[in-house]
Amino acid sequence: MLRNSLRRLSSVVTLRARPPPNTAVTSACFTITNDAPPSSLEPHQLRCTTLLLSVDPFLRCRFNADPGVAYTSAYEIDAPIASAGLGVVTETTAEGFEPGDLVLEPFDAWPWADEVVLDASRVARVPRALPLLLPPSSLLGVVGQVGLTAYCGLHHHCAAPPADGDVLVVSGAAGAVGSAVGQLARRSGAAVVGICGTDAKADALLDLGFSSAVNYRSESLAADLDAALDGREVTHYFDNVGGDLSDLVISRMRAEGTVILCGQIASYDSDVPYPPPLPSATADLVRERRISRERYLVLDHKAHFAAALAEVAALVAGGELRTPETRYEGGAGGAADAFVSMMGGGNLGKALVEGAAAPPAWVRAAEAARSALPPRWRERLCRKYVTAEALAAFVS
Ligand code: NAP
Repeated sequence: MLRNSLRRLSSVVTLRARPPPNTAVTSACFTITNDAPPSSLEPHQLRCTTLLLSVDPFLRCRFNADPGVAYTSAYEIDAPIASAGLGVVTETTAEGFEPGDLVLEPFDAWPWADEVVLDASRVARVPRALPLLLPPSSLLGVVGQVGLTAYCGLHHHCAAPPADGDVLVVSGAAGAVGSAVGQLARRSGAAVVGICGTDAKADALLDLGFSSAVNYRSESLAADLDAALDGREVTHYFDNVGGDLSDLVISRMRAEGTVILCGQIASYDSDVPYPPPLPSATADLVRERRISRERYLVLDHKAHFAAALAEVAALVAGGELRTPETRYEGGAGGAADAFVSMMGGGNLGKALVEGAAAPPAWVRAAEAARSALPPRWRERLCRKYVTAEALAAFVS
């Protein structure tokens, strides 16, 4: 009896304290406890074990009392931290779900706990055939908000998307969004220079097909960037970072070039407005060269989500768009350290946390069958059977 009740305890991560002003989130911001989940379900609820949690830079604003954005809310002190997540239903009072189903919360409401109780309206059920064609984890990455951010930023936010002969620079290039941006821009024919934080990441970018890659921590950064550009001007800058790095890239831009102002992670731990104002020399340059630099928010492009997801899903199924991932261990309790690590550059590709439970047998069998299918078949089957409408259910 004692053993059973101990086994039912679930690791839960709650917010102990907000980071002080102009300070990064540290382990001191979190409390990790072992709690007993609710013993019974209300109508229309699901009890789930957590398989994967997503850790994303945009969650940083939720640690502030005022997140400063309309699309998400602040974490409450002593309440669970939450993000996008994927898990397995173990008990249900909701129609349309059964134990063993894989379910996804695609944005910001899966609590960081190994066992959770969720309202069924918050999640989408993953069709059982889907893991035959796509890794389920990709729904938290490239076949989800990450891929949409890359795809819509390139194809819908830009008045003139990158094409043959163009030169695109992407910062945060070895992260989830950046690694997808570079691969997609290469498919459009543009030369792509990726900027990232270590030499090992730069090597990984070359392996993904980037034309060249630069480590922004190098003392010869400006010279390295110039060598990578080889006399060409930058036509597109997909900016995930901001700060001094972006001033440097913008100084190498062509007149009437485009900055896709996606993120400014270099300032997420500073109490400055978003986006932070440019230094006057860079602002002058943007004006004089008539560089477009509109703020980009993927959620403004919902009309394109279904078609964009169908395209990236087919590319992933066919192995043409690779999906690097960094998996953090330690169960849901490991998400606290994973978030701190990701903000400091500990990840290559999408940062994910593995829950304490293993995937169910049917998912493991589907994953094995998928890897035995030739990529071209997977892509064809994906284009034929995985409809844009079905995929749209996986994004909020
Ligand atoms: P990610 O790139 O996978 O992870 C964050 C990366 O940022 C780290 O791995 C680190 O890599 C880099 N980084 C951290 N601090 C830095 C600094 N001071 N200078 C330079 N690089 C730094 O995260 P993601 O989910 O793909 O998000 C990337 C960006 O897209 C973020 O800015 C995010 O806010 C933004 N985003 C925007 C939208 C939108 O709608 N506009 C949607 C989703 C995401 P290094 O090792 O290279 O330093």
